[in-house]
Amino acid sequence: MKLFMHWDMEGISGLFAREQAWFWEEGVRPEAEEEGRRLLTADVNAAVAAALRAGADELIVCDTHCGGGNLILDQVLADPRVTYLEKSRGYQDGRLRWMPGLDQSVDGFLLPGHHAKAGTAGAFLPHTWMLEWADFRINGQSVGEMGIEACFAGHWDIPVLFVQGDVAACREAERQFPGIATASVKRAESFDLCSGPYPEAARRLTARKVAEAVANLRADSVAPYKPALPMAVTVRFRSVESAEAASRKPGVERLDELTVAASVERQCDVVRWIVDTGL
Ligand SMILES: [Zn+2]
Repeated sequence: MKLFMHWDMEGISGLFAREQAWFWEEGVRPEAEEEGRRLLTADVNAAVAAALRAGADELIVCDTHCGGGNLILDQVLADPRVTYLEKSRGYQDGRLRWMPGLDQSVDGFLLPGHHAKAGTAGAFLPHTWMLEWADFRINGQSVGEMGIEACFAGHWDIPVLFVQGDVAACREAERQFPGIATASVKRAESFDLCSGPYPEAARRLTARKVAEAVANLRADSVAPYKPALPMAVTVRFRSVESAEAASRKPGVERLDELTVAASVERQCDVVRWIVDTGL
């Protein structure tokens, strides 16, 4: 059994303040970034150990928050079955692509550390891809980053097994992916503040839910997220300026002041047309 864990950071255990995740913003204390990266690394270790215990023979761990580079690599659990990708883009078969190694050889896709989509009420740091995006839709269905990533994996018929995040992120996942196992490790107090159990307790819950996710995969009770092709993809921006810039890309159509659309031929090209990343 081969699994792919695609880690974001906003939804990890014990990370309760905006500056611990969005440390590129002005005025952030260096200790906050350090703390965020330490919490991420500890969460990764707990989830990886749980996946191996549950019977994964091979595991790819991808660090994707802000493009990657957040894991403290000399503190990760070293095991010959686990490959750590420092960035969410890399080379496979000589070509630069998103999530290298995610292909037909992978049995299950896990999305720990995730957050709710743009505009979600009662969520910690909700957004979709970039703060400029107000709403993203695939064939008319509003989806967040979990939906975009699951769609990408859907190209190879890989089911989404697991989401870890705040209550709002887990709710979004449960609505969109029936049968998914979720680890709800915190609750938003406001856009940039949340609270929850001590990280050790949240990691124990995460490990239990990873095991449940693997059991669901074995029982064949989870399905890939595979929107019908060709997919009609739309982005509503927050500013006219951004919509205008996006509409200049080849194949992109302007629907109204703030919204652009494109027709996409493959699930794995879900965002390629707009951010030049994909297969
Ligand atoms: Zn992130």
